[in-house]
Amino acid sequence: MSFTAFNFHPQIQTALDNSGYEAPTPIQNQAIPPVLAGRDILGLAQTGTGKTAAFILPLLQRLHAGPKGKIRALIIAPTRELAEQIHTYIGKMAKHTHMRSMVIYGGVSKHSQISNIRRGADIVVACPGRLLDLVNDRAINLSAVEMLILDEADHMFDHGFLPDIRRILKTLPRKRQTMVFSATMPKEIRSLAEDILTHPTTVQINHTQPTASISHAFYKVEQRDKAKLLRKILTEKDITTAIVFTRTKHKAKNLGLQLQKAGFKATSMQGNLSQPKRQEALDGFKNGTYNIMVATDIAARGIDVSGISHVINFDMPATAETYTHRTGRTGRASCTGEAFTFTAADDYKMIKALEQSLGQNLVFQTIAGFQSTPQVSENKTTAQNPTARIATKARSARGKKKSQRNQPEIFNLGLSTRA
Ligand code: AMP
Repeated sequence: MSFTAFNFHPQIQTALDNSGYEAPTPIQNQAIPPVLAGRDILGLAQTGTGKTAAFILPLLQRLHAGPKGKIRALIIAPTRELAEQIHTYIGKMAKHTHMRSMVIYGGVSKHSQISNIRRGADIVVACPGRLLDLVNDRAINLSAVEMLILDEADHMFDHGFLPDIRRILKTLPRKRQTMVFSATMPKEIRSLAEDILTHPTTVQINHTQPTASISHAFYKVEQRDKAKLLRKILTEKDITTAIVFTRTKHKAKNLGLQLQKAGFKATSMQGNLSQPKRQEALDGFKNGTYNIMVATDIAARGIDVSGISHVINFDMPATAETYTHRTGRTGRASCTGEAFTFTAADDYKMIKALEQSLGQNLVFQTIAGFQSTPQVSENKTTAQNPTARIATKARSARGKKKSQRNQPEIFNLGLSTRA
């Protein structure tokens, strides 16, 4: 099937032709027709599947017909990076139309955003915190919104944004088209979706399995040897661009600096960075100043840089779903990619969880000079449901007073990266 089958307006089709996309991805094939028909959508798809275009293209087509200059579409995203990425994508696809999009998030001046709003926009892409601020200040008028999209709804929940979102929803017209996209469906998101969607069409792309175009390699390595193994891999493998994931902000920062000192074109991104520094890191990674980005899960969310050849899990992810999210950063659309995961002795439970989720045993590679770590054996009481146990452990850790330094960034969401 080709994009021409959707009969987009020539101004949108021209942008699509210039994008180089040859054919719609499965999520686009599933979602575009019902969105064009005005249906509500519940989309179960992870990033990397082409989900942004799946809602932006039909959104532009529907807005094209009506009046310009009023906010008729509102897209809510959990992170600044994702909001920027969607806004940039709209800019490309709406280039030949007269539609304008603007982006709203915290950490930058409210003033410039308010004057931007006054200049008029058809589409607003926003993070919930700042948007709610502007709504409360009566600085933004959302009474003309016809289309609402909640993107990465599961991460909005992770960030503690659902109460803000419910407050924003109260200020929107009831008669509207609503779409909720989420890679996973925790019960809070299911209940939000039930509240706000009317007879939705469900579109679903297999989200528990990692993308097929990625090869996965696992290495057993002592904690203390991880940095050495990373340098070896970065030197010896044919790596064009890589994202290296660490569990904590502190580690992301330090590892980025260590790699720079060792002569790699590396940078890092984590929640403690100021907005200009984040942008500098992201721009540098996009334009090739850096080809290695060390990041935490949260900071990496929304990095949409095409052609990432490698994802390296310096630290094992906390859940099987996070593994899928991380590795989905490579092998996007029609490209192939490689994922390397370092596993240390205390990762035994996560390895089991991942094997259970993938339905296969992980195969470990060895690299000369790096000793395999004997894995700690699982005790009987933890065997039944490793994924659930790890999630529970993560949640209970939230309440504990840990030193900031060792805290995984995911536990700090509400505080440090709140938009
Ligand atoms: P997303 O899941 O929206 O983050 O998209 C992942 C990547 O796939 C982005 O770099 C898109 O530009 C790209 N993409 C989206 N749709 C297509 C398509 N139909 N053909 C090729 N690449 C695409």
